[in-house]
Amino acid sequence: MTTATSPANFTQLHLIQPLIARLAELEYQQPTPIQAQVIPSVLAGHDLIAGANTGSGKTAAFALPLLQQLFEQQSNNTGTRGNYVSGLILVPTRELAKQVADSIKSYAVHFNGAIKTVAVFGGVSANTQMLALRGGTDILVATPGRLLDLISSNAIKLDKVKTLVLDEADRMLSLGFTEELNEILALLPKHKQTLLFSATFPEQVQELTQELLKNPVEVQLQSTEASTLVQRVFTVNKGEKTAVLAHLIKQHQWRQALIFVNAKNSCEHLADKLYKRGISVEVFHGDQSQGMRTRVLADFKSGVLDVLIATDIAARGIDIDKLPVVINFDLPRSPSDYMHRIGRSGRAGEVGLALSLIDYEDYHHFKVIEKKNKIRLEREEIEGFEVDTTITEAMLAANKPVAKPAGTGKKKRKKKTQESSDVWLKKS
Ligand code: AMP
Repeated sequence: MTTATSPANFTQLHLIQPLIARLAELEYQQPTPIQAQVIPSVLAGHDLIAGANTGSGKTAAFALPLLQQLFEQQSNNTGTRGNYVSGLILVPTRELAKQVADSIKSYAVHFNGAIKTVAVFGGVSANTQMLALRGGTDILVATPGRLLDLISSNAIKLDKVKTLVLDEADRMLSLGFTEELNEILALLPKHKQTLLFSATFPEQVQELTQELLKNPVEVQLQSTEASTLVQRVFTVNKGEKTAVLAHLIKQHQWRQALIFVNAKNSCEHLADKLYKRGISVEVFHGDQSQGMRTRVLADFKSGVLDVLIATDIAARGIDIDKLPVVINFDLPRSPSDYMHRIGRSGRAGEVGLALSLIDYEDYHHFKVIEKKNKIRLEREEIEGFEVDTTITEAMLAANKPVAKPAGTGKKKRKKKTQESSDVWLKKS
């Protein structure tokens, strides 16, 4: 398995001038480690499997060589596209589909329209997407369900696909897209280049890898990139999370804080409670219309909105430049979702902060999250919100969640055990 080496510059990666020029405009000064490893392998035509989170620069890692290959093939091509697609990128969510397609269009600016890119995803009318697909497309970024709909209405055919990219493969499978994925894979030509990106490698992804990839180059980053992300965990009393959160938001005045909860209605409840405490927030979850989600995300990305409360729908793929802080108000159910959530912060070498608020009911689960992700974080307390030691100690002794004793009486306030190194918490 290849590991991170010091990245070359983009010219050394043999990218062509229209791409180099665009990268300079975008102020990408050097390739990220994943780009330094993936780009040459893709250009050499290899299948590839890469362990990469969003924030590592993985979109450009597959998009740049794909654009280059298609551009070069096109120069030798005189034929029409029909309703064919050459590069198919499968992604788990609508937001990611739009984001990946936007990035590709941006990287391709100096191809002057020679490479067509279309994004298709559910939740919006299929008609506009069908129109966009007329005459085929060089690159199609798609969520699996909508892609199958469009195939069954003959809007697109997959038998000329030259490159398949599975982005966030683990998420795709965990969202239950296995059947759709298999249907799509059956429609693809046998001879193609396949690139698979995944943050985690559960059994399902490993099986898929074995079925799909031929002698793949394996790229796994050492956790050097992760060092730009500071993870902290605060113990709080049950029922005090909202007060702690409001305190942190007011104290640090973060410009962009993404707060994760586990349910759609928890988003709304927490938003109401924060609003009553004078903090204006927006919510982002799967019950909102696509239009609403797009608007909220645009406001958050542009900095109009400081605090966004979201379900795990926002945990993958959404790229918000330099997000300074991510807060787990509710712990994610699965340890891998913890990694996806915190991956929203500390993007592409920026310093980020991931905070988790845990009360005694979360304590055991957080240990599981730590164990699975091979991390161990020091429990900290926030001044003014120290935990009730009687409950904490009972919890520690039992090493599992304990029921809060009835009529606990007066809280024993413990002195703050450690000075928070607030350097990471300050508004930058
Ligand atoms: P991704 O992991 O693909 O979601 O990318 C994360 C963020 O890093 C995006 O905002 C990209 O525009 C940015 N990015 C990707 N590659 C580079 C690079 N080589 N230099 C600077 N920023 C980059």
